[in-house]
Amino acid sequence: MSQKSKRERNPKGWYNAPAFAMNLLSVHEAQERILSHFKPVEAETLPLTVCAGRVLATDIISSDLPLFDNSAVDGFAVMAGDLVHATLISPLILRVVADIPAGSSPDIILTHGQAARIMTGAPVPKGADAVLMVEDTDFNNRNAGAGAPPTVKAFKSIKVGENVRTRGMDVKTGHKILFTGSRLRAQDLGLLAMLGTSNLPVYRKPNVALLSSGDELMPVESRLRPGQVHDSNSYTLSALIAQAGCEVYSLGIAPDRKDAIQSLFDQAIAMNADLIISSAGVSVGALDYIKEVVESNGKLDFWRVNMRPGKPLAFGEYRGVPFIGLPGNPVSAFVGFEVFVRPAIGQLAGLKTVTRTTARVRLAEAIESDGRESYFRAIVEEREGTLFAKLTGHQGSGNLLSLVQANALLIMPAGVKSLPIGGQADAWIL
Ligand code: AMP
Ligand code: MG
Repeated sequence: MSQKSKRERNPKGWYNAPAFAMNLLSVHEAQERILSHFKPVEAETLPLTVCAGRVLATDIISSDLPLFDNSAVDGFAVMAGDLVHATLISPLILRVVADIPAGSSPDIILTHGQAARIMTGAPVPKGADAVLMVEDTDFNNRNAGAGAPPTVKAFKSIKVGENVRTRGMDVKTGHKILFTGSRLRAQDLGLLAMLGTSNLPVYRKPNVALLSSGDELMPVESRLRPGQVHDSNSYTLSALIAQAGCEVYSLGIAPDRKDAIQSLFDQAIAMNADLIISSAGVSVGALDYIKEVVESNGKLDFWRVNMRPGKPLAFGEYRGVPFIGLPGNPVSAFVGFEVFVRPAIGQLAGLKTVTRTTARVRLAEAIESDGRESYFRAIVEEREGTLFAKLTGHQGSGNLLSLVQANALLIMPAGVKSLPIGGQADAWIL
């Protein structure tokens, strides 16, 4: 009987993966098993100046912002009731009784017929209930730098509260404004500074040790002899690890010898790594020793994951430190990082959300797979409000250029063997 006749259609109408795929571990199962071994590293207290990109280790409760009623414009603090009849042709004249620059604290109480010159951000004096913009008076911008005039003509009426930023108008005391597990962005730091926060509890950066394995690998500085290739995974993976907010211990290349591999793993332990990542040496090749070394110094699971690229994946513990062994092919290593290491690192780092945001995209070409959960290198572009995805050339797991040209990984779920042009899929924007 042919394979085709045995296949079943799933509810979306696509053929399910053939039965042989069923003894592979699903991507989701592999992720769950890995994640169950990670919890956040400890917190440390750091000055706000170095907290950009760090993960917050506490919730932040606000006090009132702004802290006092202040002017949103340069102009004149007034009593709105005085100006009900003010117009350009019949302006109202007010007596200017004070000059309030930003940073000062007025001790006057305004009464009817009076105004106080005021700058943006300066406290609105008692008695005043609105600020008339300088452009709506005879004391306009040409007078910048001059002292306050004795009187001012108001050309417009104004509503109570206009151009006044009242205390607590942006944030009220007691409001939770930032949350444990969020990565601090520029604007978050600004808001914390507004509250006068000088030191902040954040999770320390996880330490991630990285090694490449294989006799054929040479450092970039070396001239290659026949059969050798440059170690590219070290560069790709250390950049990914650093961008994910970790310290990278780049241990270099372990040749295909147990003692050499073990010595790099021991270095990782000596450096107090929170996680050890390797690439290559975990498939079924005769010289794939990584698994043996980990197994004899800890625990090892070796999985065949129902995904493409990157089916082999090793996970375990080396002397108590979690270990993830990625496949060696450069694209497989990258995809393996995105699928398994990024969430694990996120959990170590204390992040609340460890998954990438996905975009729903429309296919600009039909795509086919073999029923494994497939990660295609794609370019996602917006055309008239819709995101369209097309693939970047051949999808061989050694073809790193196709990843260089990509700005997204397009995900074809397990069990789906083809998607038509115009069909929809999820994509991770890189
Ligand atoms: P392996 O997992 O050891 O069977 O390696 C699979 C393929 O990936 C082989 O073609 C290796 O030469 C290649 N490869 C393994 N590690 C690296 C690396 N660090 N940089 C570039 N290519 C690699
Ligand atoms: Mg190898």
